[in-house]
Amino acid sequence: MKTVKKILLPTSTAGSLPKPSWLATRETLWSDWKLHGQELIEGKHDALRVALQEQVSSGLDIVSDGEQTRQHFVTTFIEHLTGVDFENRKVVKIRDRYDASVPTVVGPVSREKSVFVEDAKFLRQQTKQPIKWALPGPMTMIDTLYDDYYKSRETLAWEFAKILNQEAKELEAAGVDIIQFDEPAFNVFFDDVNEWGIACLERAIEGLKCETAVHICYGYGIKANTDWKKTLGSQWRQYEQILPKLKNSNIDIISLECHNSRVPVDLLELIRGKKVMVGVIDVATNTIETPEEVANTLREALKYVDADKLYPCTNCGMAPLSRDVARGKLHALSAGAAIVRKELTN
Ligand SMILES: [Zn+2]
Repeated sequence: MKTVKKILLPTSTAGSLPKPSWLATRETLWSDWKLHGQELIEGKHDALRVALQEQVSSGLDIVSDGEQTRQHFVTTFIEHLTGVDFENRKVVKIRDRYDASVPTVVGPVSREKSVFVEDAKFLRQQTKQPIKWALPGPMTMIDTLYDDYYKSRETLAWEFAKILNQEAKELEAAGVDIIQFDEPAFNVFFDDVNEWGIACLERAIEGLKCETAVHICYGYGIKANTDWKKTLGSQWRQYEQILPKLKNSNIDIISLECHNSRVPVDLLELIRGKKVMVGVIDVATNTIETPEEVANTLREALKYVDADKLYPCTNCGMAPLSRDVARGKLHALSAGAAIVRKELTN
């Protein structure tokens, strides 16, 4: 099962890739589908094949579905649960940052059938390479909802952790090698993260034998996020609040934003000994990194992350980018990792 660590500096993306224009509106986050019914089912599978092929031809070591079958990284999962009313929407401030129209929790939440397991089986059939599958984390789920039933963020998070654990176990059985939980909310609600957020995440991975990861970033390159980043000052030290506790958690891999951001790279010292997915590709710009720029960020990270624990990655998902830009960035990621891999093995 732990095949991934045999490769030195195994490359992967944080998750999403642009969708083809016949499936969704190009360069648009959370676009509606352009197809319906059986055509949509087939279209999603075709898009997944294309996304996989783009990763393989770019030379990525750990591949994913590029999140081609989901509209939104949180709500698509929630849509499959009972207890949530999607008609009854409320506008709430999410990530303590921007207003979003979100569904309402109106009763006990439960997962009556699997959400992504069939898609994961389909991906597994298409490749023998290690595969990574992303799920929303419990804290980010509760932060993307209006709760009119539990009336407690913590209680609802524990309920979601149980549901995520059910899904994760089925994903593992479907042959997923790394299950990743996306927790951008960890970069905002530090007290909650330390009091119960990380414990909820550990509940979500309970009993898993595959590798597990948590992805914590500063978000897609959308205006609400870039405006927020401008308020964070010259050094982004958010990770400092949460990494000490994450280091002692059962999560195997921590996925962080590093390239072009103002995160002081020496914060990685706080998790020395953990495996780290180091973001070496900026997803908030159309400028394609050169392989040498990628290599430089990796060399910096290697001062704080042992080579056998470093996974070169993107800062976040690439869904809103053009396909050309995303493809260019995948190639740069692969080429930059190859430069450093050669240095390490010479
Ligand atoms: Zn992200």
